[in-house]
Amino acid sequence: MNATNTTRNGHRADGTHTEPFVYELDGVSKIYGSGNSRVAAIVDIDLAIRPGEFVTVVGASGSGKTTLLQLLGALDRPTSGSIACLGRGLGDMSERDLTLLRRRHIGFVFQQFNLIPTLTAHQNVEAKLAVAGGVMGDRLREQLAAVGLEGRANHLPSQLSGGEQQRVAIARALSTNPSVLLADEPTGNLDTTTGQEILQLLRALSSEHSQTVILITHDRELAAAAPRMIELRDGRIISDERNRLEAHGQEVVS
Ligand code: ADP
Ligand code: MG
Repeated sequence: MNATNTTRNGHRADGTHTEPFVYELDGVSKIYGSGNSRVAAIVDIDLAIRPGEFVTVVGASGSGKTTLLQLLGALDRPTSGSIACLGRGLGDMSERDLTLLRRRHIGFVFQQFNLIPTLTAHQNVEAKLAVAGGVMGDRLREQLAAVGLEGRANHLPSQLSGGEQQRVAIARALSTNPSVLLADEPTGNLDTTTGQEILQLLRALSSEHSQTVILITHDRELAAAAPRMIELRDGRIISDERNRLEAHGQEVVS
């Protein structure tokens, strides 16, 4: 999917390069408040994520998962440490540049779907593409087909099940061909079976298109099905299990 943006010498049309890492975090901390209300949400995290990785982030409520995703999504800045996204240091970038980075390179999916209720599935994806200046028509139909919703294009969110609404949100997030998809508890509002289907969909989209995906969940069983699982506790990474699939020669949990 991303290869279409990249010329042969590894330079993208927008001036960024193809980097060995989608993210590099060095000593990243995020402290909220001060004095008695001081909360260390993320503490001294080092992390590198390569293109095409499918990573789950697991941890109890309050362990810092959402804070980490907001830092990765350039929605918030760390208190200390550095974050590079696609080889560019976020600390040196203006708010405007961060907005452009988000728009061009990062797709977001949230627990609450965040669809516009008065727009159909088709129009919700179209609205995102319009903001990003993207191409319409075929691309839009392809996106809805890719998430299995070609027959639901003209339905309003209220006429769709939770799982279908999340599929629209995924189609919307991927419509601009982002370098990375960040998902914060995308299965949190869904029943177990539907949650598994959404995870399978993201896995399939990720492997078909070498799409980097970072997905938060508090569901350990779901998280453990991924090739890489990072566990947070009290803002720190307490485990980072890689190559789970390769090690077993097949999927650990299918
Ligand atoms: P999780 O997503 O794992 O539940 P969060 O990243 O939302 O965890 O929160 C981590 C910690 O930071 C929690 O103790 C939470 O109360 C605190 N926190 C999160 N956001 C803020 C904020 N804007 N202001 C103050 N504290 C916050
Ligand atoms: Mg959270």
